[in-house]
Amino acid sequence: MADCLFCKIVEGKIPAKKVHEDELCVGFSDINPQAPTHALFVPKRHVATTNELTAEDRELVGHLTVSAAKYARQAGFADTGYRLVMNCNRAAGQTVFHLHLHLLGGREFTWPPG
Ligand code: AMP
Ligand code: ZN
Repeated sequence: MADCLFCKIVEGKIPAKKVHEDELCVGFSDINPQAPTHALFVPKRHVATTNELTAEDRELVGHLTVSAAKYARQAGFADTGYRLVMNCNRAAGQTVFHLHLHLLGGREFTWPPG
């Protein structure tokens, strides 16, 4: 989609530190990390928010989670623990309207989140 930051990262038009890539998704480091490891897993196909997901996207969303979990294992904090987050729309603080799964790891997290 024209004018979408994460579509441009997927297409390689804007640089990013990629940590994962396959036919369905890309994982890259967050530019403003909130933990020692903070990566974003995004579908290659543009989807704005979780509100646009349909039953046909079940495999895609599951794939984002599996890819992030695989990277958490590689990064060394799978057993200690980590956080996966998807923000949807304004109240949750979504700022980039291309679906992304945050993977945060390498420190302790509190609950409830802010
Ligand atoms: P959200 O608030 O859930 O929409 O998260 C958007 C995330 O994208 C934030 O954590 C930003 O730091 C991150 N971000 C924004 N621009 C870039 C970029 N060019 N490369 C990597 N991450 C980015
Ligand atoms: Zn996009």
